[in-house]
Amino acid sequence: MDHIDVIVIGAGPTGLYTAHKVAEAGYRVVVLEEHKEIGVPVHCAGLVGYRSLKEFDLYWEDVVLNKVRGAKIFSPSCRTVLEIVRSDTQACVLDRENFDKKIYERALSEGAEVLLGHKAIDVSVHHNYVEIICSDRKHSARILVDAEGARRSIAKKLGVSTPSRGILPAVQMEFKGVHDIDDKIVEVYLGRKWSNGFFGWLIPISEDLARIGLASARNVVYRFNLMTRLHPALKGRLNRARIIRRSVGFVITHGPLKKTCGKRFVLVGDAAGHVKPTTGGGIIYGVKGASIASRVILRSLSRDTAICVYDELWRREFGRDLRFMLIIRKILNKLNDNALENLMFNFKEYGLEDILVRYGDIDEQYRLVRGLVKNPLIILAILRTLIS
Ligand SMILES: Cc1cc2nc3c(=O)[nH]c(=O)nc-3n(C[C@H](O)[C@H](O)[C@H](O)COP(=O)(O)OP(=O)(O)OC[C@H]3O[C@@H](n4cnc5c(N)ncnc54)[C@H](O)[C@@H]3O)c2cc1C
Repeated sequence: MDHIDVIVIGAGPTGLYTAHKVAEAGYRVVVLEEHKEIGVPVHCAGLVGYRSLKEFDLYWEDVVLNKVRGAKIFSPSCRTVLEIVRSDTQACVLDRENFDKKIYERALSEGAEVLLGHKAIDVSVHHNYVEIICSDRKHSARILVDAEGARRSIAKKLGVSTPSRGILPAVQMEFKGVHDIDDKIVEVYLGRKWSNGFFGWLIPISEDLARIGLASARNVVYRFNLMTRLHPALKGRLNRARIIRRSVGFVITHGPLKKTCGKRFVLVGDAAGHVKPTTGGGIIYGVKGASIASRVILRSLSRDTAICVYDELWRREFGRDLRFMLIIRKILNKLNDNALENLMFNFKEYGLEDILVRYGDIDEQYRLVRGLVKNPLIILAILRTLIS
């Protein structure tokens, strides 16, 4: 059994980001990854805010497949389409496999050790160390970072209570030969008719290549097929298209976990629920959390202080944003298709689309909520929806 300062379970973006930051300070970090290759299999649409990528120094031109300026949001019947489009780049479509590999290379260059094909099976927390059991050996470390993603089998062993709702299966396929793509605009398909608890999406990569996907609480494969065949916005556009890549995964919409750390461990990324409940995007909030986790860990390693302050720190920094988004997700989930149809129609009628364009931000969505609540027309739009 060899002694390690920090052991990280999971070599996704958040585990690798934490490993990189801790190794950079000269500590011994070991990352365990169950798969034999970084970034594979891909389970992501790869849409990430442009400003946030730059802010966290995660922007590499050669993993950016496309840059988009906004989104069109389709009401359930497509009667109303809200267009939130700006003149400059808002988000990047990433080659997610190679994005993860870039963070991996950075972690390696700082001295982190990444053990591929090593699955953590069990874990036990002791007074001044943690023990992690893999199939062929044991590791002990001063601190454990659980970055295992949405599955949370290790989190459960750590005694963390994990929500059973708000983890939705998702299907995504990359189609070549799609007609009528505006390669600067993402498309979002709302409505229970298509998805139960989430939405469908089209993310353009080029003028004839797009990632089309859907997450739903129930019957996700059936609903995905229904959407690609019958959705009015997609009808006819996939006639000659062929599927070149398929992926499945779990989208998290339940918001952050109540407890994300213990005496000797922290949870980061999807494992912590640091995912936008509105869109299921978890890369940026995951990295935000990982950045805070690495600061707390470094302080703890140098002064042997507790790491429980992590919970308080990330809540202070972005807990409010995630709470806002969770409220929006809950409201959207409560609306039936008629109500949603009317609300979107009234939004457009009252000119609230401009507010969406002005305050809409792929990552900092609370700005939009603030912009909307300041505008009295939102009350009128809601009242009119309630009356109708
Ligand atoms: C269909 C779909 C589309 C998405 N689209 C977007 C998007 O457009 N933009 C966005 O920001 N987010 C998106 N997300 C969410 C995003 O993929 C996640 O938030 C992000 O990958 C979280 O990173 P992570 O490092 O926390 O976990 P992960 O990327 O899931 O990495 C966890 C790693 O841990 C490993 N692991 C798990 N258990 C063990 C174990 N016991 N031992 C060793 N290794 C283990 C796994 O193999 C994996 O490599 C999408 C998700 C899905 C499902």
